[in-house]
Amino acid sequence: MLDSLPRNAVVRANRVFVALRKSGHVSNSRSPVFHAVTPFCRMSLCADEPGPGSGWAEPPGEHVTCAACIRRLARLRLQR
Ligand SMILES: [Zn+2]
Repeated sequence: MLDSLPRNAVVRANRVFVALRKSGHVSNSRSPVFHAVTPFCRMSLCADEPGPGSGWAEPPGEHVTCAACIRRLARLRLQR
């Protein structure tokens, strides 16, 4: 299973996350926010999710940029 993970996947407390942004239009004025999302899971770590009929855009980003997700990732790391 680990072989199928994206190379930039993040593993915290036996949970796997990848940095994903919502698909759809991205305005030029603001850069897309990348959330920590478990593969094949719809809700991100910060309990955000794409709207109806939408989804997470591929490919995963290099880094999670959502502040709420980063905070929760840090908390998971402390649990080890
Ligand atoms: Zn988030």
